[in-house]
Amino acid sequence: MKEHAPQGSLFDDPAGPPVRVADVAVAAPIATPLSYAIADGVTLEPGTRVKVPLGPRVVEGFVLGIRTAPAQEGPFRPIAEYDDGPPILTSVTLELGTRLARRYGAAPGESFQTVVPAPVRAGQKSPTRRFVRRHADADATQAFLRSLEGKPSKEKQRRILTALLARPEPFVPLSELLAAADSGPSPVETLAKAGMLVVEDRHDDEPVGPRTEAPVPTPEQAAAVDAIVAEAAARRSATFVLDGITGSGKTEVYVAAAERTLALGRTVIMLVPEIALTPQTVERFRARLGRVAVLHSNQADGARARQWETLRTGEVRVALGPRSALFAPLPDVGLIVLDEEHEGTFKQQNHPRYVARDVAKMRADIEGAALVLGSATPSLEAEAMVRDGRARRLRLTVRATGAALPTVRVIDMRNEKPVGKGGLFSTALYHRTRKTLEEGRQVLLFLNRRGFSTQVLCKRCGWRARCTACDVNLTYYQGTSSLICHYCDARSEPPSKCPDCAAPDVRYNGAGTEKVAEAAMMLFPGKRVRRMDGETLRARGAAESIYADLKAGVIDILVGTQVIAKGLDIPNITLIGVINADTSLLIPDFRAAERTFQLLCQVAGRAGRGDFAGEVLIQTFEPAHYAMKFAAKQDAPGFADVELPMRALHGYPPSGHLVRIVTQAPDADAAREAAQTLRTQLDALTGANDGRIALLGPAPCPIPLLQGAHRFHLLARARVDADLDAVIAACPERTMRGGVRVIVDRDPSSMM
Ligand code: ADP
Ligand code: ZN
Ligand code: ZN
Repeated sequence: MKEHAPQGSLFDDPAGPPVRVADVAVAAPIATPLSYAIADGVTLEPGTRVKVPLGPRVVEGFVLGIRTAPAQEGPFRPIAEYDDGPPILTSVTLELGTRLARRYGAAPGESFQTVVPAPVRAGQKSPTRRFVRRHADADATQAFLRSLEGKPSKEKQRRILTALLARPEPFVPLSELLAAADSGPSPVETLAKAGMLVVEDRHDDEPVGPRTEAPVPTPEQAAAVDAIVAEAAARRSATFVLDGITGSGKTEVYVAAAERTLALGRTVIMLVPEIALTPQTVERFRARLGRVAVLHSNQADGARARQWETLRTGEVRVALGPRSALFAPLPDVGLIVLDEEHEGTFKQQNHPRYVARDVAKMRADIEGAALVLGSATPSLEAEAMVRDGRARRLRLTVRATGAALPTVRVIDMRNEKPVGKGGLFSTALYHRTRKTLEEGRQVLLFLNRRGFSTQVLCKRCGWRARCTACDVNLTYYQGTSSLICHYCDARSEPPSKCPDCAAPDVRYNGAGTEKVAEAAMMLFPGKRVRRMDGETLRARGAAESIYADLKAGVIDILVGTQVIAKGLDIPNITLIGVINADTSLLIPDFRAAERTFQLLCQVAGRAGRGDFAGEVLIQTFEPAHYAMKFAAKQDAPGFADVELPMRALHGYPPSGHLVRIVTQAPDADAAREAAQTLRTQLDALTGANDGRIALLGPAPCPIPLLQGAHRFHLLARARVDADLDAVIAACPERTMRGGVRVIVDRDPSSMM
């Protein structure tokens, strides 16, 4: 940053000439931009990062605009420092951050902290590494190599040159070359002097792998790509819902549309629900599009900053990542894709609590870009967009490889005499699993609960193992022999007898994946059982390793939670057992049925993706529930036909719009009173609003105690989304007197 020379008292003269000022979004929860004086001769642009005085401190900020202000508006304090290079924010990301702030009730400065990753704001420099490349032509190099032969003193030079020639890529990291040749650096210098190679410091960029050819698109794929690219070419903002059954080739549509958007000279943002769980998607994009900037939150700071730079300059023209990739500083974005659009990870769970689908729409509007929402089970929000004409549906109705959809059978567990200990396998699931394994195929067992037992209780007095900081059951983990709270991660030892009545037989009920894996090992001895869930995925690279082992066929049975529903494409998996489909149905949330339906369809879609027919068995105690019925038919529009009118009846999204306000505090009374105060304030607002906003609550949250905080919530509901802007403006997210946290969640994804 460059220091900014202030011009002393000139700024303080109220009768003086007009002053050139920058309106700055400062990194503090201040609702409006602040104005600072710019010295003569300094040119600042909107989007430039600055440091400005705020009270006794100096804080970071971004220039929103430059204007000439009358002196009496002042006095203006001068800007302290500024970046002299191209602005970090482009005109598009500046506009996007401003709209984000307005919609979600964030201060502009807070919004730009979301838009620009911390390492970039910190002005991190990207590290370079030392690379070596060949220099002389092939004949000269060979001649030189021959001249080294039989000379022991030049053996290391010979090995280095040989190792360099063996590598296909133009640049080889020096460290790798030295390791390969088992040499120190001095022979490299000698070779450089001889003109055989060049040593250069370069940025460590994303790898570029071998390219693969595009398959011939199916007619449906071709039609979808054409429709999308037509909008990108016309620079029109248009939304598409790419509604394609699992395995229908949606990813291929994204890739082909991206290729053609790049050919138009425009750029591409591709969002995936979770980068760590989708190594296959990353692979496919790279193999077809070449340089792709893959954004992860766990990247090294320097690498992150470097990536930002390559995107800003347009050197790399595709950004792939989780929801935050929406803010990539790419110039002229022509295509934005949300893969698995219905996934919960597209909602940010801290302030500003944005919905990626809606922010993507904002960006598409600003850029004149095509927005593609892809899913086998579109969210009801996306479904509603199609039905009321805000989006066009593109359908893919057959599997691209010609594979049939799996057959799905719903198993009524009420009339079952289950097999084995713990009663987890119906007779049908047991027999089908055995048969499938005998045929040398792989089996996936799904249960959306991790751990061993989800309820630890005393049968005599009713005591239950509960978290003292959260009002929830503790989960028993057999592997580590501990009780764990899934909400605050508190760990304790399981009791040997009831802590209340001292009865000796504490019961472990409610199975999680750990127990399913144990039962599978007992029922199918000798078979290789692996587990994939939040616990086993903690290790770095765990997803990649499980995926590789599945592909290599060294896993017979994979037991997992919803993490297995995402993107697994293993042709040899032919049977899927859903151990208990009801877990997500019981959650007290208006989206419980939708979640259950989506999860079951996604899981079912992992079966029979290759040449062998797939089969899915869904075990449930509620076989008549419409979520089960439509999931068995993989019928998303059918599900929406039932669900949408029910939402409309209750004014829930997508018919109505919600702002959820949560108050939380260690003291229950303080939290309750704060919620009541907010209700009174909002009553005054809605009274002036002709009943266009309905208020509900306050009431205790379904989880009334979380990490030691008591929680109450109220809901504001409106038919017209824009009516809720007033609620957002009147009720910012903040900490109130008495340490009460106020959480303001527009378009909440959870009501817990
Ligand atoms: P989805 O994203 O809808 O689940 P994918 O794009 O992963 O589907 O495609 C499923 C499988 O079909 C993949 O193995 C993919 O390589 C293959 N595939 C996609 N399109 C075609 C095509 N036009 N011709 C042949 N194979 C295809
Ligand atoms: Zn007891
Ligand atoms: Zn807890």
